[in-house]
Amino acid sequence: MKDTAFQCPYCGVGCGLYIDDKGKVKGDSLHPATKGDLCKKPLYLPEAFDKGRITAPLFREAKEKPFKEISWEEAYRIIEQKLKTIPPDKTYFYISGQLLTEESYIINKFVKGFLKTNNIDSNSRLCMATAVTAYKMAFGSDGVPCTYEDIDDADAFIFAGSNAAISHPVLFKRVLRRRRESEQVLIITIDPYETETARKSDLHISIRAGTDTVFFNSVLYTIHREGWVNFQFVDGYTEGFEEALKYAEKFPPDIASSICDVPEEDIYLVAKVFAQSKKLISFWCQGLNQSLNGVMKNLSLINLHLATGRINEKGCPFSLTGQPNAMGGREVGYLSNGLPGYRDVRSEEDRRFMENFWKTEGIKPMPGPSITEAVDLITEGKIDLLWVVCTNPLVSLPSTGKVEEALKKVFLIVQDAYWNDSCELANLILPAAQIGEKEGTMTGSDRTVTFSRQFRYPPGEAKPDWLIFTEVAKRMGWEESFNYRSAVDIFEEFKRATRGRLCDLSNLTYARLPSRWGKRWLYEDLKFATESKKAKFHPARFEIPQDRGSFLMMTGRMKDQWHTMTRTGKSPSLLKGELPPYIIMNPDDARELGISEWDRVVIRSKLGEAERIVKFGKIKRGHIFTPFGYPREFADPINRLVSDRCDPLSKEPDLKFTAVDIIPAGKNINWCEEDGRRPFKHGRSRQP
Ligand code: SF4
Repeated sequence: MKDTAFQCPYCGVGCGLYIDDKGKVKGDSLHPATKGDLCKKPLYLPEAFDKGRITAPLFREAKEKPFKEISWEEAYRIIEQKLKTIPPDKTYFYISGQLLTEESYIINKFVKGFLKTNNIDSNSRLCMATAVTAYKMAFGSDGVPCTYEDIDDADAFIFAGSNAAISHPVLFKRVLRRRRESEQVLIITIDPYETETARKSDLHISIRAGTDTVFFNSVLYTIHREGWVNFQFVDGYTEGFEEALKYAEKFPPDIASSICDVPEEDIYLVAKVFAQSKKLISFWCQGLNQSLNGVMKNLSLINLHLATGRINEKGCPFSLTGQPNAMGGREVGYLSNGLPGYRDVRSEEDRRFMENFWKTEGIKPMPGPSITEAVDLITEGKIDLLWVVCTNPLVSLPSTGKVEEALKKVFLIVQDAYWNDSCELANLILPAAQIGEKEGTMTGSDRTVTFSRQFRYPPGEAKPDWLIFTEVAKRMGWEESFNYRSAVDIFEEFKRATRGRLCDLSNLTYARLPSRWGKRWLYEDLKFATESKKAKFHPARFEIPQDRGSFLMMTGRMKDQWHTMTRTGKSPSLLKGELPPYIIMNPDDARELGISEWDRVVIRSKLGEAERIVKFGKIKRGHIFTPFGYPREFADPINRLVSDRCDPLSKEPDLKFTAVDIIPAGKNINWCEEDGRRPFKHGRSRQP
């Protein structure tokens, strides 16, 4: 095996990697976005290639029966029979930001263009849908306006609801590198929990969970009060400032300070940094996105960039992407409203374009239900078939008790490289190839597209996801439209659909990758993608759930694990330090309840309960933090406790804010360090 380049399959930073002739993963120093840097996670990828893989199609008509191995022919026949007898609007497809762009494109073409339903969503609904909505409202289009290069001459960084030090480590290292170069550089983290990012920042603002909109509105108020608004920019390139300011005036610093539980000086300081730094980049992630008013949180921060003209050479509102190819999925339009090239099913022009392009007709004009809405529809008996590709809804969706009931009810197809929790409720399981076993592209957070080459064969009968869908399409009678010989044919078709769009990839070829689409700054000439060409302020309205409980529970990522541990969990080195499943608690809160560190507790919400051990950390009193990604072999999913209420604009679930009670549950845990399994009564063993 010679050195082979590919993109890291974990976070959205999109590091360029290669695997050498001895099977070791290294950073690709020629990669333009990440220049050879990488973190620990992909180093252990080779350990996980062959563990826990699905290697043949498996089928059972009834869920209580054991699976039996079947041929691909039989699997295709079952799917064909289902898709030809179940009305399209009673089917649903739930796909993933881990798929290659070519695969997301093909699945969307299959569903929206040929099956003729918009009943499809991606797990980006759980992380990026809010940022996409906010970018569209503020700038007229999705798309991160700047690139990683902008880190290298910025002098102020704000991390809001982002623990980038562990979730996007290569990006955070670049920020730290920049700080080492200049004493002027300031890093501010806004988070209820003193995360690793907060510890490495110059200022940690320990805000009350859910109140970010108030904080940023108050910063806008202060910027205006101090005469720091850049009116040349506001008047020339934006609209809606007066309305946004009028709403922000509800939150002068003394009021905001008590709502957010932060010192007034911190509001002033952030206002001053926005006004007086040379170049300011604000990074945000799920702390803002996964909220009942997530879009408003995003907009309240973007408003500050607009009020001070912090765009292009002066700064950037930079939403961090969770999954390795959420950006590619967005280019393809893989949420229930999207079409390729940042198009939308609600636009007649966009539908007509894609119908001509795909040589089809009848693309539906209404967005399909989001995945949480689809779970309700399944429960109500309105969806009969669910096809899940490359994601694990039984752990990652909110309200997993309800999800479990829905998955038991529906004819469930799970298509994945690894056996995961959702497989346990499947009727049909399809083995998929993973990174390195197929070819194709992914796009990182700063719009750099990387081509991943194949360097090993898929195990057993596993196939690339695009091939599975094209083979089904042929059986459905759509052979002419799905006649691809390889991933490159799909890429060449997809890129033509983006010609002339903001995300124009049409000049890229596999041979020229990695390469970034768009200019360094998406809006270099300050002409935005809105009708008026002006960026838009929005009044950023504040709303907070009125749930009752003695603690607010926030969920988030672990340092060395990704997704629901399906791949990273196979590496003992990456599991160290992440087990047993834990919560972070303020020691003063714990003492009041008679809880010591490492004690066991039950976390109880109105939806259910789960057990964890307690670790102490610097977290705001009345708050707890717990990682969300533990599969059921370790403990009950924490999302069992989390409601499925969503932001009304983005339909992204409110995963960051659950009212809970904490009940002491014993002094010691019976934790098996050796295999790290099942310390808690709810933990379940993995099926073969
Ligand atoms: Fe992979 Fe993200 Fe780590 Fe880069 S920073 S190596 S993309 S997990």
